Amino acid sequence: MAETTLDKIVSLCKRRGFIFQSSEIYGGLSGAWDYGPLGVELKNNIRDFWWKEMTQMHDNIVGLDASILMHPKVWEASGHVSNFTDPMVDCRQCRSRFRADQIDLTKPCPNCGTKDSFTEPRNFNLMFSTHMGPVQDDSSVVYLRPETAQGIYADFKNVVQSSRVKIPFGIAQVGKSFRNEITTKNFIFRSCEFEQMEMQYFCKPGEDEKWFDFWKEQRMAFYEKMGINSENLRWHQHGEDELAFYAKDAYDIQFRFPMGWQELEGVHNRTDYDLTQHQQFSGKDLTYLDQETKERYIPYVVETSAGLTRNVLMVLSDAYEEEKLEGNEVRTVMHLHPKIAPVTVAVLPLVKKDGIAEFAQKLEKELREDFATFYDQSGAIGRRYRRMDEIGTPYCITVDYQTLEDKTVTVRYRDSMEQERIQISLLSSHLNKTTKLYKRG
Ligand code: ATP
Repeated sequence: MAETTLDKIVSLCKRRGFIFQSSEIYGGLSGAWDYGPLGVELKNNIRDFWWKEMTQMHDNIVGLDASILMHPKVWEASGHVSNFTDPMVDCRQCRSRFRADQIDLTKPCPNCGTKDSFTEPRNFNLMFSTHMGPVQDDSSVVYLRPETAQGIYADFKNVVQSSRVKIPFGIAQVGKSFRNEITTKNFIFRSCEFEQMEMQYFCKPGEDEKWFDFWKEQRMAFYEKMGINSENLRWHQHGEDELAFYAKDAYDIQFRFPMGWQELEGVHNRTDYDLTQHQQFSGKDLTYLDQETKERYIPYVVETSAGLTRNVLMVLSDAYEEEKLEGNEVRTVMHLHPKIAPVTVAVLPLVKKDGIAEFAQKLEKELREDFATFYDQSGAIGRRYRRMDEIGTPYCITVDYQTLEDKTVTVRYRDSMEQERIQISLLSSHLNKTTKLYKRG
């Protein structure tokens, strides 16, 4: 198997319409990306898979969709105004900007090669700010949220009062976040505008360690369920120097990206820090009353915080393979789990004549009810299979002369390239069952 490089993934993403650079016709905007016709399907499918696993599959997790703009005091309370900074240096010669913790300051500038050209490190706040309303002064400053979690804390009281949740319970949210990142290389890995999938699990102090272990296990199992190769996943525990001052324990799930092992998701024990801060800054009572024991306390929080857009890069990197076939042929195939593939079923007429194309079109329309389908009648059948392999379509259905006689079609499986004939009346249930039992081949 040839090595998967980031360049190969970037090129496939552009060629097949997964991901484009933002504003490319104007020379591009670094740190911002557009999800094309296939990319948006893949991203939405990962989001929906997460949402189902994290809310609907649990009886004590509810969802939320808080706004991106929030009261500026939220970010004072959370510590982001004073602490959400990266140390930054500028090269005096070429004016390039770097994160001081990501380069060797004793070496020449990586961009222009000038020696001793760096400014002293300065702290640089990663929050984007803007103004709300017609007056642009300090009183109208608002921030684009740098994480979705604070919306959950700010609505904690509303959720407790309006729904019948009892501790332990979770609030889940998916949405855009913004960070003025200094270094945005590595494609969509680190961008200025991205999406997060976060869940805050509120529990009784003293039970937090138990729930922390529970969520660690759940989150790793999630990736395996999504079909990610477990050899490409590992845990990294935060050391003393990485741990946020309020956090009791923190682990990251790392994935082996083409550029090496990097963080994919954090599972953190945030104690009662955030709610305590918001109680203090808002002056509102954010304690929880246990109706049975009549105890009142500020809950502890176990957070699971994953990047949705970073998940897209992980899924693509994990699925991509240049497979050597007989006769020195190479096929590019993406082993996407059928649940998240942008197209689940492609319907391909073997030939266009004698009513075969019309039959195939009708079948494709019927299958739309149950699957994300695609119809393709152009080119040799082998080439059509390859095009579908490259975008990760798990099932290709071929309609031929025999179909007209006995109402059977050929199902061709992406990973094994094996084919079998199936009765059309059994097709949907057969494909659903195959998806349920899917194991990467
Ligand atoms: P780093 O230290 O690498 O800047 P972080 O540890 O501050 O990141 P968190 O605040 O824990 O990251 O964010 C949770 C998750 O959100 C990360 O695991 C990652 O998947 C995603 N994420 C964070 N920043 C970005 C970004 N700039 N672009 C894409 N995804 C991001």
